[in-house]
Amino acid sequence: MIIIMEKNATAENIQAVINILNEHGFRAILHEGDVHTVIDALGDKTTLSQSRLEAMDGVNQVKLIRQPYRMASRDRKEEDTVIEFSNGVKIGGANRPVFMIGPCSVEDDYDGLLQVAQAAKEMGCQFLRGGAFKPRTSPYDFDGLGEQALKYLAQAREATGLLVVTELMDVVDLDLVCNYADVIQIGARNMQNFRLLKAVGKCKKPVILKRGPAATIQEFLLAAEHIMYNGNEQVILCERGVKSFDSAFTRNLLDISAVPVIKKHSHLPIIVDPSHGTGQRYLIEPMAKAGIIVGADGIMVEVHHNPAKALSDGKQSLSIPQFKEVFAKLNNLIDTLPLEKGKTNSFTE
Ligand code: PEP
Ligand code: MN
Repeated sequence: MIIIMEKNATAENIQAVINILNEHGFRAILHEGDVHTVIDALGDKTTLSQSRLEAMDGVNQVKLIRQPYRMASRDRKEEDTVIEFSNGVKIGGANRPVFMIGPCSVEDDYDGLLQVAQAAKEMGCQFLRGGAFKPRTSPYDFDGLGEQALKYLAQAREATGLLVVTELMDVVDLDLVCNYADVIQIGARNMQNFRLLKAVGKCKKPVILKRGPAATIQEFLLAAEHIMYNGNEQVILCERGVKSFDSAFTRNLLDISAVPVIKKHSHLPIIVDPSHGTGQRYLIEPMAKAGIIVGADGIMVEVHHNPAKALSDGKQSLSIPQFKEVFAKLNNLIDTLPLEKGKTNSFTE
């Protein structure tokens, strides 16, 4: 249930609502908007009637939330969530889509990483991505450099000012990864690792949550709900493709429609990863364009200084000159979009 207070509701009115919610075993979460204060009531709605709350002083509206996810729901929060970083970079709402680029894995080659980071900075990308702990389908594949990779990422941030995105695979590494990362990535394979979601819920860093390879949109939003319910509302969703029956030409089926569907039902920002979404270099440009057109708040692309020698995902990685070309085209496209209106609900219903 969500309770929207009147514009002129007093602090006493708000407290009275919180008190009655608490008496009935609800957890009340307060959101003070520019105009209205909104109270999220998480609990069993059969114990307290909607009409009883509606009759209270200062209450404007009580809405029952039909979706199982609540904190992630657009019903609970109409305006887009915008995630802001200390250097002023913003993700979500009417902001220009951001770019997160870098190698799949950070390798033992700092110069290679720095080449990508410097090019990213010069072009105007905001984030350097790179895995230190890699989830690999085969136990025989390179699974990341661990802390050394985090150190290289931090060094590259120092050199360029880019924000660092890196994956956390296990709760035991939470503090370590938090110490180095600006954004913590939860990978597709861990989308429903609920202990991990709870752990990042308790940390203060923004989280990129990648869609599980076989997750429905509802399961995806419920995974985000776990992070939010545990205290961290800075969640960035990432569509990176789902398993399909046809893997002859693409690694995954990039679900472009997930972007406007999620924009309609959730206020959270969503980015698109065409690299894992397709597994093919030549599909990065068209699918990144598609993502931007349907309203993505950012694009994540694997870029390697020498894709032929990459220790993971070389086949889908762009070289620096290839990405430069794609980036210029994507920016031309972004320039034609009416971003000032935001990317939300701008499609005719
Ligand atoms: C990655 O971003 O390198 C990665 C492993 O992605 P995903 O979890 O989407 O497969
Ligand atoms: Mn990868």
